[in-house]
Amino acid sequence: MENKFYDCIIIGGGPAGSTIATTLADLGHEVLVLEKAKFPRPHVGESLLPFCYHVFKDLGILETMKAKFAPKPGVKFSNIDGTQYSKWCFKDVIDDDSYLSFHVHRAEFDQILLNNSSAHGADVKEEIRVMRVDFDSAPDHSIVYAEDKDGKEFIFKTRFTIDASGQDTLLARQLNCKESFTTLNKRVALSTHWVNVKPNESLAESNIEIVHLVGEKLGWIWMIPIEENRFSVGVALNMEYSIAQRKILSKEHKDWQLALYLQEIATSPEVSAVLNGAEMANPIAANGDFSYYSSNKYSTKHAMVGDAGGFIDPIFSSGIYLALKSGQLVGNGISHFLKTGSLSVMDAAYDDIAGAYRLVEKLVTTFYDPASINFSGIDKSVGNYSFKKFETAYSLIHLILAGDFFTNHQKYIDAIEVLRNPDMIEKYRYLIGHPAVHLIEKACSKTPEELQA
Ligand SMILES: Cc1cc2nc3c(=O)[nH]c(=O)nc-3n(C[C@H](O)[C@H](O)[C@H](O)COP(=O)(O)OP(=O)(O)OC[C@H]3O[C@@H](n4cnc5c(N)ncnc54)[C@H](O)[C@@H]3O)c2cc1C
Repeated sequence: MENKFYDCIIIGGGPAGSTIATTLADLGHEVLVLEKAKFPRPHVGESLLPFCYHVFKDLGILETMKAKFAPKPGVKFSNIDGTQYSKWCFKDVIDDDSYLSFHVHRAEFDQILLNNSSAHGADVKEEIRVMRVDFDSAPDHSIVYAEDKDGKEFIFKTRFTIDASGQDTLLARQLNCKESFTTLNKRVALSTHWVNVKPNESLAESNIEIVHLVGEKLGWIWMIPIEENRFSVGVALNMEYSIAQRKILSKEHKDWQLALYLQEIATSPEVSAVLNGAEMANPIAANGDFSYYSSNKYSTKHAMVGDAGGFIDPIFSSGIYLALKSGQLVGNGISHFLKTGSLSVMDAAYDDIAGAYRLVEKLVTTFYDPASINFSGIDKSVGNYSFKKFETAYSLIHLILAGDFFTNHQKYIDAIEVLRNPDMIEKYRYLIGHPAVHLIEKACSKTPEELQA
């Protein structure tokens, strides 16, 4: 492989890596993407958020997305016995075409994004695994050490290294800066695809469905209608519960993960009805220990994007949008730095990214707190939950669920805190009828008395 000097080398060609590659190539930089796998490759994480729409437009792949993948008009949350549920149709709060998101086959989706990077001028090399990066031996560049699948070694030089290696977190591990969230429990997810399913009404409309598991399980079951007759069905469980079940189930089952998966999805009558007579299309995939962050995300020589910089429990399908948007923001920041020597755009990008992750963390901790907002119970038409009167509080959560993470994050965080406190809910009574974003401005800057006036 030629010994070319690149402006930027990107480790990993997933959604974060390919988005930042396209962004930097569009801004005129020489970019190399090193991807350890041969694409297309499978990956968990198949349901996208509406706010991805504008990124797809910027990347020039919106029409391909519309042509290839199932639409996602909304999300349904329900409790385990199906007696309480809430449905969130993004059209209610987003009044242009961008309300509609997608459910994707990750292998195909990631391939589209990576091909798009090449089409925009990035040099993409698959089946090359980065082993480590030497930041210290030269003042003006770094040296990237890599290997192909046969163990042949390669050395590349670059002014800037971007870690987009996903949960492999190559640089966070090398720089010893990977930390755990103190607010989030460790969890494990087991998932597979099913065919010959029997969709209920909401799944037939192409909504994702989340069934809340409470008590010691502290998790959820997801059903994602990837195609008309192919659903991704997974279960996320508290790690402690999963370890305890492993001890019990491995006594009687050779494949304890399969046994645990089947045991948990069978606890939901709704999931059981959908899968009655269906067949599993793949072996079970296990993903564990998700939720961490890097405490050293960028410098004058490196930056981390997507899961390589941090990952939060995927209950709200936030990961891909966070990866895509961070890729764009950090790409602009790096370009500005390479052209001017100033980190100001990068500083601003990472402030917004930190805010977005804080907001998602707040939402996730709220979901798991049994005394807090009950997502299955919030609905305009169903259930007995007191929030049903408060249309705008509903709109506010609705917009966060759609992915409005990067602007107004502190105001949303404050608003969630307010909504978690039943005594403060009155504050929202007087906001009915206001457009949701406008509401956040008001709710967070005025007293309840001012709002009533
Ligand atoms: C159980 C579960 C369910 C999820 N559900 C959703 C969902 O419904 N919606 C959603 O938006 N998100 C979901 N996510 C999150 C989503 O999958 C991730 O946030 C997303 O894939 C992040 O993209 P990325 O590019 O940062 O990382 P990845 O997609 O993981 O890409 C990283 C790439 O780097 C490559 N790589 C790794 N190490 C090296 C190396 N040393 N050298 C070269 N290449 C390397 C890998 O092969 C890979 O292709 C879920 C996650 C989990 C665990």
